Amino acid sequence: MRLDLGAIAKAGTSKANQTGGWRNFKPIFHQKKCNSCDLCRIYCPEGCVTMIEKKKYTVDYAYCKGCGICAEECSSSDIEMVVEEK
Ligand code: SF4
Ligand code: SF4
Repeated sequence: MRLDLGAIAKAGTSKANQTGGWRNFKPIFHQKKCNSCDLCRIYCPEGCVTMIEKKKYTVDYAYCKGCGICAEECSSSDIEMVVEEK
């Protein structure tokens, strides 16, 4: 099979690649000061932040790579990055 540079060989491969294994730090969503600004969900590069209900967000740790962008962008400092226990 011939592939051009930047081509994706098969659709859906990002689902198979569980980036949670890369994590050295883990985001903890305290759900105490959350104002539902949605920035954590919008900025997460893995798309693994979900709103459960207003002011309550959760992370799919199978895909969270621990980059810390959600904590950096959180408008109410309600997300804490902690060292991942392995
Ligand atoms: S640490 Fe990075 S990958 Fe994990 S939820 Fe936050 S933004 Fe997403
Ligand atoms: S960025 Fe912070 S305040 Fe905004 S929705 Fe996420 S947890 Fe809540």
